[in-house]
Amino acid sequence: LLEVENLQKFFGDRHVLNGISLQVKRGEVTVILGPSGCGKSTLLRCLNGLEPVQGGTIHYLGQNLTGEHVNWREIRQHIGMVFQNYELFPHMTVIENILLGPLKAQKRDSKEALQQAETLLDRVGLLARKNDYPRQLSGGQKQRIAIVRALCMNPDIILFDEVTASLDPEMVREVLDVILGLANQGMTMLIVTHEMGFARSVGDRIVFMDQGKICEIADPEQFFTEPATERAQQFLNIFE
Ligand code: ATP
Ligand code: MG
Repeated sequence: LLEVENLQKFFGDRHVLNGISLQVKRGEVTVILGPSGCGKSTLLRCLNGLEPVQGGTIHYLGQNLTGEHVNWREIRQHIGMVFQNYELFPHMTVIENILLGPLKAQKRDSKEALQQAETLLDRVGLLARKNDYPRQLSGGQKQRIAIVRALCMNPDIILFDEVTASLDPEMVREVLDVILGLANQGMTMLIVTHEMGFARSVGDRIVFMDQGKICEIADPEQFFTEPATERAQQFLNIFE
């Protein structure tokens, strides 16, 4: 579904992604782990066209996303992204936030889109809050809304960048459970997280990065019991 080959990214003369190669199959959950600053967020942002790359290729369903004239507005309807800080529009209600993409970008039928939005809201337990504004919601609720907003575009892939990192501990679980539910439904996802238990249970495989490179790609059980590289072992020791 997604194929990354020898990706290169610089910020000035800092080499932030140095030869990332990665393939994502439909229905697969890939968890990306690695120390702070190793390039995890930058990688996801490149896959969503939020950062230009300086080398290598990204193919989505055979289409080269690193070529000229890529319509990222269109691609982002298929490759959704959820951020650490929700990025909901404060002046719009929950339902307005969710329907913006389906109605404006996708020009979908409003009745059909509303029905889907309500079904998804119900599934995350927030249907009753559809007319609230983001400021009236808790962090965990806002993050679940952000996930529903991404889902309502019917994407092929969703990229999650540390979506529980700014939540209070008691709200982390409710968001992780929504993502686990998506995994069980076969959603293709790339997940950056610092929640090791979650990484182990949700991931079909672990991609461990350090200093802009992939050090190790492994089965979660293998990675958490016996990582192949010393660098991964050091990283895991911090969480013991
Ligand atoms: P964390 O776990 O802390 O979120 P990360 O793995 O997501 O870290 P990135 O945010 O991808 O790391 O950053 C990778 C490197 O790129 C870091 O050295 C960072 O300082 C640098 N960087 C990120 N964004 C920019 C930017 N807009 N301009 C310049 N340098 C940047
Ligand atoms: Mg990051």
